[in-house]
Amino acid sequence: MALTQLIAYNSTIIYSQMPMASTSSQLVDKYGRSVSYIRLSVTDRCDFRCSYCMAEEMTFLPREQVLSLEECLRLARTFVGLGVTKIRITGGEPLVRKNILWLLEQLGALEGLKELVLTTNGSQLEKMAKDIRAAGVKRVNISLDSLNPERFKALTRVGDLSKVLRGIHSAQSAGFAGIKLNCVMLRGVNGDELVDLVQFALDQELDISFIEEMPLGEVDHVRANTYFSQDEALPLLQERFNLVSSAETTGGPARYWRIPGAKTKVGFISPHSHNFCESCNRVRITCTGELYPCLGQNDAVSLLPVLRAYPEDDAPLRKSIIEAMGIKPKGHDFNVYLPTPKIVRFMSITGG
Ligand code: SAM
Ligand code: SF4
Repeated sequence: MALTQLIAYNSTIIYSQMPMASTSSQLVDKYGRSVSYIRLSVTDRCDFRCSYCMAEEMTFLPREQVLSLEECLRLARTFVGLGVTKIRITGGEPLVRKNILWLLEQLGALEGLKELVLTTNGSQLEKMAKDIRAAGVKRVNISLDSLNPERFKALTRVGDLSKVLRGIHSAQSAGFAGIKLNCVMLRGVNGDELVDLVQFALDQELDISFIEEMPLGEVDHVRANTYFSQDEALPLLQERFNLVSSAETTGGPARYWRIPGAKTKVGFISPHSHNFCESCNRVRITCTGELYPCLGQNDAVSLLPVLRAYPEDDAPLRKSIIEAMGIKPKGHDFNVYLPTPKIVRFMSITGG
């Protein structure tokens, strides 16, 4: 079945007859990939300082450079109008943004949005999980890189593991359709804990995804020594668990394995060892309104000036978004072995 779709090619909008993609998004890039998912960062600030994500000393953005919550909502509504059906709210730590519940409630009520999801470090969940669920957030991803309190503190530089664990328990009581733990695998740091983390996920009936570390941020932050790949982790887990490869997807980059008889899905997000760019369906918007079509490249389109220049008219914003699809690259070219990362932008800025 053919469908007329808008395709942005080298910033020129053309119409094309092409096979119907799995979504009816008007956002299609020059490789024919349909964009139906955005990750919206609502703040660059965070109450943790994870060593793989941030520098120890961070300078945060002045308030006027950051999207207001109303601007976040207008952006989200515009993307949904163009066919986006899934929004992940992220950061920095999204739950430290003042009045974030207001935004979540507005997004939760957006017609056409099928999935509102959130990524958090869990530090605020103990007090906020119920309200977040009530606002319409369907699923949450909670970062958890270690079950050892000292190690957790060292990794996050300030984090309190017990508070995060209480946050996880609050999320379990709040009735989310899914809770997934996210763990960045780091050689020499938590590589010896992967089995324990899967066991914890099994005991708690949660899903878990292991992420290969990405080289983003500080110029002198070399990742070669800490890089831990799926190809090493999977056999390690298979020694202990009967992992059966599964074809299921949650619409993101993770590939999943199941353990027969258990509720837990074990996932891997492996940009280095098992590139997933071919099926990429998402773009990222930073808290300053920069639209990054790819986490692993430097090209971006500034939406904030358009938002502020046309406060009553969404047409220029729609046009900028559609045109931005024309610069979505074929893929990232992350390389953990380079002496300095090509992307000198912290993950906390772009939003994970
Ligand atoms: N603060 C929230 C959190 O930690 O979950 C949301 C933002 S954080 C940037 C989103 C995700 O990105 C987290 O799961 C984090 O572990 C991951 N992340 C951060 N820096 C990374 C890196 N260099 N490589 C791989 N994943 C990274
Ligand atoms: Fe903060 Fe999340 Fe980055 Fe850790 S990974 S520093 S919690 S934004």
